[in-house]
Amino acid sequence: MTLNARNREARDRQDFQQTGVARVCQGRVPATMANRDELGKTVLTPGELIDTALHPDESTEPATGQGRFVWTETGYDRLTERDVTDIASMLQACSEGETELLFAQADQTRKRFVGDSVHIRGIIEFSNYCMRNCLYCGLRRDNHKLRRYRMTPDEILAASENGIRRGYRTIVLQSGEDLHYSTSDIARIVEGIKGLGDVAVTLSVGERARSEYATMKSAGADRFLLKHETADAELYRRLHPGRSLEMRIECLQNLKSLGFQVGSGFIVGLPGQDISTIARDIALLKLLDVDMAGIGPFIPHPDTPIALYPAGDVAMTLKALVVTRLALPHANLPVTTALATLRPDGRKLALSCGGNVIMPNITPAKYRKLYEIYPDSASLKDPEDGGIGEIALMLETMGRRISQTKGDSFRRKRR
Ligand code: SAH
Ligand code: SF4
Repeated sequence: MTLNARNREARDRQDFQQTGVARVCQGRVPATMANRDELGKTVLTPGELIDTALHPDESTEPATGQGRFVWTETGYDRLTERDVTDIASMLQACSEGETELLFAQADQTRKRFVGDSVHIRGIIEFSNYCMRNCLYCGLRRDNHKLRRYRMTPDEILAASENGIRRGYRTIVLQSGEDLHYSTSDIARIVEGIKGLGDVAVTLSVGERARSEYATMKSAGADRFLLKHETADAELYRRLHPGRSLEMRIECLQNLKSLGFQVGSGFIVGLPGQDISTIARDIALLKLLDVDMAGIGPFIPHPDTPIALYPAGDVAMTLKALVVTRLALPHANLPVTTALATLRPDGRKLALSCGGNVIMPNITPAKYRKLYEIYPDSASLKDPEDGGIGEIALMLETMGRRISQTKGDSFRRKRR
């Protein structure tokens, strides 16, 4: 590392310790990414909102402190191309010192904005039928090797009740896109779970019409997870036959306007992705002002068209998590199962660099193996109750603890 870079790091570290504000110098922007016009061409194009926000009128551009990207307690209202470039430069940080500094900043930011408590959400994977054909996913419609299952509403309620008895205060219901469950079926299941106690319900059932989301919200659903997967519209189109990033963003905007706490996120290491794509992924999370963001590595599934591509890089996934924590200090950031699948210590690692949520699997054992989004999921090792006792012990060794609250959005409390 040059002397200048070292001085800059020392100054940044001191600034951060004194102010709690992370700074990144423009000097680190790699030449290949510094060209705004070039980046502008590949900029997200799907919706007006995104497009305008990424190309604001220069006169309304927020002050960024002489070209520095500075996060403050109030955050930015809008993101500029320069912000995307700055995010990319952080992802590019490669010296040990730079990386160490970013990780320390993310951990301190997590502590300062969302505290030491870790929210535990019990996830029930209630159906592996899917009418979509995402190229990376083992549940895709054209994977005829997979034995399909559906849990009945009674089974879902029984699994939820077990979870609540074990101490979970959020139940997450996830499935492939399976229209076998009508909107009113889902609404009834949500009502049933809400009747079991003071718990939050998160749905992750894919794309539906706004009116259907409205019915689910009226039934009591609190949150919705729908990852945008990749912010590159062309890559999105190739990976999701018949679908578009624009449709995905429209769903996310509908969910937001209906009052759901909204979680999105993306996959690191998709074939065709590069660092500027990941920077755009993080910028999009910021633009959508999400309450939660799941960031996990790609894991190839043998029965998909992209089976032979390599898995996503663990270090880059962690760096993406770190930068997301700095960009969205109030967000709930789960430790993804995909990360824990690639690294046995993945949970601990992610918790120490920005993560504050764990989602143990509480699906009945007989169905677990069949929810094979990718092979050998770490969640197969979770005991039937999700291993809440082991998690509590692990957190203790880290000076952290299981939250006693439902873990509602910190962003919402701030609004
Ligand atoms: N059908 C719903 C929810 C289930 S899929 C939906 O698509 O929103 C849940 C998540 O699994 C997806 O959002 C995707 O990010 C992730 N996923 C699917 N296949 C994957 C793979 N091969 N590697 C890593 N993550 C994958
Ligand atoms: Fe279906 Fe979701 Fe898998 Fe896509 S990612 S194939 S929508 S389960």
